[in-house]
Amino acid sequence: MAETLFHKVWDAHAVRKLPSGQTQLFVGLHLVHEVTTPQAFDMLRQHGWRVAFPHRTFGTIDHIVPTSTQQRPFLDVMAEEMATSLERNCREHGIPLWTPDHENQGIVHVIGPELGLTQPAMTIACGDSHTSTHGALGAIAFGIGTSQVRDVLASQCLALDPLMVRRVDVNGALRPGVFAKDVILTIIRRLGVQGGVGRAYEYGGTAVDAMTIDERMTICNMSIEGGARVGYVNPDAKTFDFLRGRPFAPQGAAFDRAVTWWKSMASDRGATYDDRVVFDAAAIEPTVTWGINPGQSVGIGEPIEAAADDEALAFMGFRPGGRVAGTKIDVAFIGSCTNSRLSDLEAAAAIVRGHRVASHVKALVVPGSQAVRKAAEARGLDRVFTAAGFEWRGAGCSMCLGMNPDRLEGRQICASSSNRNFKGRMGSPTGRTLLMSPAMVAAAAIAGEVVDVRKMMAGVPA
Ligand code: SF4
Repeated sequence: MAETLFHKVWDAHAVRKLPSGQTQLFVGLHLVHEVTTPQAFDMLRQHGWRVAFPHRTFGTIDHIVPTSTQQRPFLDVMAEEMATSLERNCREHGIPLWTPDHENQGIVHVIGPELGLTQPAMTIACGDSHTSTHGALGAIAFGIGTSQVRDVLASQCLALDPLMVRRVDVNGALRPGVFAKDVILTIIRRLGVQGGVGRAYEYGGTAVDAMTIDERMTICNMSIEGGARVGYVNPDAKTFDFLRGRPFAPQGAAFDRAVTWWKSMASDRGATYDDRVVFDAAAIEPTVTWGINPGQSVGIGEPIEAAADDEALAFMGFRPGGRVAGTKIDVAFIGSCTNSRLSDLEAAAAIVRGHRVASHVKALVVPGSQAVRKAAEARGLDRVFTAAGFEWRGAGCSMCLGMNPDRLEGRQICASSSNRNFKGRMGSPTGRTLLMSPAMVAAAAIAGEVVDVRKMMAGVPA
């Protein structure tokens, strides 16, 4: 029978059906970081348990890392305590850990694919909502909470409810100036922030087929913002090319054998889905949020709908029928696990080159990993950004989540390439976040206000 990748991976990893009706699922790869693990390791200690599969567990420090200087000890006592506790726990249990002085350190969802840890047909778990990112390589990747982190540490298994599978097709070609971020913001706007509850999203269609793995990561990353438990793209030749030669990917003949296995796990032609939605890529505009969840967005040329949510409008200072274009910004942030890979920085640098950041704007570029930072510097992107007045920072989550010194102040408005615009997300309870693509953030930094990036791209009609 024709099956989806989701069901094939689920069945291949199912240990048993639990009396609760849930399935006990084996987890192929567990990624850990400093925020959601201290209590989980403490619980293990209380029971006298060991980590069941330390060689399937890898750690990085990302959320609390200061990005201006990564010197230890961190000035923030709590951040230093979280870092040292993860170091102690990983040492005790024989888990590899990448701290900011290591070349492999970075945001957990950037380094997994980058190192080849993330592979097709794998089950992956991590104590962070945006674990769905790894689905871009054809993995089924679950964001989990602290008690589930404990479960995975102790047993390498998760108890999970079955999911329905929704096929999300994006067909046709994206127009110049429109990026993967615009696609996922458009998908969430139409299907809603709760639209994916109880579902896995399988992304496909000619526009997704044409995307790079980096672009697919941006789409899968924000699946959770649309309510989906996981999001994935079937592995294809681009996936295999991406993985070939990466340090933790199979090597030599083992790689070829793995490709055969990975191909067999992709959704079969004729597989049935619980439902299917279709998007026209050519109709997608550069998109920006106006509200306090990622579904509250508009195309840059559109007015905010007349029936928009009052609470969101009041918090953000917009009115029904008003426009986000022309909104003055205070901060521009290019970073986060959604959009901090080399291709994101290249897209932003192409807009920035030869311009200056508006004098009232604080602008930051925060590479997603040490490797991205190094590769960007080798291409001279750091000089493009700093010459324009951007700050060039060390790898980490930075302003995406106010758990480190990079935070909004007061009612500041931030043009951000991150994934959440919830109230208080960027460290100030009254700070305001406008989500958009890295190129749009770059354009806003230069103009000092939200603009259509296509106006800054030669030969591209806005
Ligand atoms: S960049 Fe943001 S969303 Fe991604 S892992 Fe860090 S805090 Fe979470």
